[in-house]
Amino acid sequence: MEQVKALPEDESPREACGVFGIFAPGRNVAPIVVDGLHALQHRGQESAGMAVSDGDAMVVMKDMGLVSQVFNDYKIAGLVGHLAIGHTRYSTAGSSSWHNAQPMYRNAGGTEFALGHNGNLTNVEELAASIGMLPGMATSDSDLMAELLNQELERGAPSAGGESQVLVEALERVLPRLQGAFSLVLADREYLIGVRDPNGFRPLCLGRLGDGWVLASETPALDIAGAHFVREVEPGELVVIGAGGCTSRRQWPPERVQPKLCIFEFVYLARPDSRLYGQELHAARVRMGELLAEQAPVAADMVVGVPDSGIPAAEGYSRRSRVPFGHGLVKNRYIGRTFIDPEPGKRAVGVRRKLNPLREAIAGKRLVVVDDSIVRGTTTRAIVSMLREAGASEVHLRISSPPYRWPCYFGLDTGTRAELIAADLEVGEVCDYVGADSLAYLSLDALKRATGVPGAGFCDACLTGEYPVPIPTRATTPHGARARDRGTPMPAPVSQ
Ligand code: SF4
Repeated sequence: MEQVKALPEDESPREACGVFGIFAPGRNVAPIVVDGLHALQHRGQESAGMAVSDGDAMVVMKDMGLVSQVFNDYKIAGLVGHLAIGHTRYSTAGSSSWHNAQPMYRNAGGTEFALGHNGNLTNVEELAASIGMLPGMATSDSDLMAELLNQELERGAPSAGGESQVLVEALERVLPRLQGAFSLVLADREYLIGVRDPNGFRPLCLGRLGDGWVLASETPALDIAGAHFVREVEPGELVVIGAGGCTSRRQWPPERVQPKLCIFEFVYLARPDSRLYGQELHAARVRMGELLAEQAPVAADMVVGVPDSGIPAAEGYSRRSRVPFGHGLVKNRYIGRTFIDPEPGKRAVGVRRKLNPLREAIAGKRLVVVDDSIVRGTTTRAIVSMLREAGASEVHLRISSPPYRWPCYFGLDTGTRAELIAADLEVGEVCDYVGADSLAYLSLDALKRATGVPGAGFCDACLTGEYPVPIPTRATTPHGARARDRGTPMPAPVSQ
């Protein structure tokens, strides 16, 4: 069994996952959960699972693999009930095991519950020590959360409010001790519960399905379930859903609640048909491209987007610059995201498996290539190389976000600071490394304007080094690490 590892910059457990929950009296919800998890598959391809309750007992099914590999009609036939939560988990190096598949399940204090988590706790070591856990006893921060609840349930007295109030009361004791990012769905035999941390780093939305309710990381999962969007669960909010309806509680004092939605949900992570802060993300990404064209024009023959997430910004760049939009890369949709591959060499191979150039379309052309971000640089370098090999006469890179310079501790696996190409290199040096003719990034101010809600609360710590909450104590502090380090390990070159 793996342990919660020392933090960071070694391989701490990091995940960006999808969560789903449903309470629908009179319906058998397992097939709806499968549909919802399919809609959230982009948030995690390592494992999938669900916990289903019929009011008397809970059954959990989870396994490694895609949603379609874990569930089929035959397998879910035994999952009967009107209440369920589901989870898709993102693949990270060093923590890919069945034990880390979710939902986490515990049976304690006369009740049983399941938990699904999107995000990343930042005080894992302190929490583990506070309950006397020895190294190796918890497999992830999500497992640790389940264990904290388990201990509270075991010591808690039965509540006058019924069995499920015991879980809510245990949650209310545990939540204030957690730091970091957590959008949670929980279920016991009777109730569905949703929680969002006081910064709301990761999304969580609430929908209505007849006389039932649905919780999901993103709105397309509501759509596929046939639910209509009600609202986003607010940062610092706990919603409890049962036969009596949906109630809302505030778990943190107002001064602690400070919305800091991950700005990369707008740039890249969430689906383009998702809505966040009332904005459809496809339109926001088009606006990012438009502003990028204003900030960084270049003489070119064609604008190409890197599929899929670079396409809307490429459309916007083309529209504003009047350089024709065209398709220059074809994506194999059956290969997972490349940055799940832990080694630079593997990532380059992954790019060639996933993308193939349209040679006739790009041969002899001066290309503007629009992508959403450059994290390690290896993938971008492979794409530029591929386009040159296919005959592009010039490759001008335009990135619809600012340079990614600081590690994320809130649920996105981007590696350590030493792995981030822009951490210690100027834009021109990054351009030289990836082999482009020119390189320009969208400014942070323009990115926020492009979201359509520039005054909303965003986390932008990976762009600015200004973390909204304390990061793990062993992490390199941003400004202490700012000195340029020409010895920063570089990704291995891609063979041309
Ligand atoms: S550090 Fe960056 S990737 Fe992480 S939550 Fe903040 S904006 Fe998102």
